Amino acid sequence: MKAQLISIGNELLIGDTINTNASWMGQFLTELGFEVTQVHTISDEPALIQNTLRQSLEDAQLVITTGGLGPTHDDLTKKAIADLFGMDMRLDPEVLAFIKELFEKRNIPFSASNQEQAEIPDGAEVLFNKAGTAPGIWFDRNGKYVVVLPGVPYEMKYLMKYRVADKLREVFGDVGFFHHRYLKTAGIGESTLSDQVLGDLSGFLNDGVSMAFLPYAGGVTLRLNGSGDTKEEARASVQELADTIYERAGHFIFGEGKELTLSEAVGTALKKHNLTIATAESCTGGLVGDHLTNTAGSSAYVQGGIISYSNSVKVSQLGVTQHDLDSVGAVSKEVALHMAKGVAERLGADIGISTTGIAGPGGGTEQKPVGTVWMGFWSADQHFAVRALFTKDRIMNKQRTMMVVLEIVRRTISGIEELPYNLQKHTV
Ligand code: ATP
Ligand code: MG
Repeated sequence: MKAQLISIGNELLIGDTINTNASWMGQFLTELGFEVTQVHTISDEPALIQNTLRQSLEDAQLVITTGGLGPTHDDLTKKAIADLFGMDMRLDPEVLAFIKELFEKRNIPFSASNQEQAEIPDGAEVLFNKAGTAPGIWFDRNGKYVVVLPGVPYEMKYLMKYRVADKLREVFGDVGFFHHRYLKTAGIGESTLSDQVLGDLSGFLNDGVSMAFLPYAGGVTLRLNGSGDTKEEARASVQELADTIYERAGHFIFGEGKELTLSEAVGTALKKHNLTIATAESCTGGLVGDHLTNTAGSSAYVQGGIISYSNSVKVSQLGVTQHDLDSVGAVSKEVALHMAKGVAERLGADIGISTTGIAGPGGGTEQKPVGTVWMGFWSADQHFAVRALFTKDRIMNKQRTMMVVLEIVRRTISGIEELPYNLQKHTV
């Protein structure tokens, strides 16, 4: 089943608003078993809305538009589509009553333009919107379907989940069953993972089984898509592919699930080994601690942290020596190790980790260019520091450091020797 999306709104074209609706809907429809073949982003222009919709309907069985349903003068979608289909407008009493009540509750005067929101093309079906004032509209065009939704992401999602999905199942019936798995890797780039680690997987791919590399800052998500005539068949269709990926790249995979984060996986590993952790952060300014504590229940393993941004705090709170600061500098393996050890000891944690680096944009030297970061790991039986060279961008450097240091923790406590991005262990 082919689907096309039409995102309507001048604000999307001039760059004021990022078209998050299209990506969200693309994912949603893919999981329902549709093939999204085109996304059009167009201005609030009736003729353009009509032409685009007409074209889309030639190729796709389903076309969904968002935007331009509001009460303001630039919201023209509903009228344009009604005109295209030769439909008159009718006032929907139920929608009208709902909007009036909403306004009363909020104590806002009801105006003529609000009344327009209750007007529906005659012959189309209302998708009742409890999340806002503009309802969605469902058109049946001889076995092809057009769905018109508001642009506000929250309202669009509400209607997709609670109105559109059921209607689609109803009219398209059995579009087959789909199964998706998200294998999350960290500390490896897309091309290394693909070319050197996974190699040729084409023997496992076919019409019903596909996979995608989805890179993110710090790793790559592997999405496996399977399909079949039953739920079980769909699930089974990706099994061999998944098993092979685990065989070849298992130690890079920190877990499965679309929403799973690395910090969550680190938490799981710490709990499994009954370990606690403390952070001493300089260049990341608390980002590592922030991520570790994004997981509910992290108090079971996060002992605490010290943001030792200045040298004096590194000395007074973590036991870094003035001698090291003077001779090798704050961005050094010696200081990273002292920070990690100091924080573990002072906060009573099994593991101490540290970050110290030159985040940029200034402060670089020839020997320590911007992006140079030392990360320390200290536990009773292992301690080492790791040097990495990231980018010229300050925020990216903080992000990368956080991801790499977390992946170092995960691999080390899981008994995996190889460090992320093949970085090396340094000791003193
Ligand atoms: P409403 O009835 O609430 O006015 P609407 O259908 O008229 O909804 P728009 O006025 O076009 O929607 O947009 C409402 C809001 O939603 C705006 O803030 C807009 O930036 C945002 N928005 C519109 N389209 C998209 C999109 N494709 N992705 C993300 N945000 C969007
Ligand atoms: Mg708009």
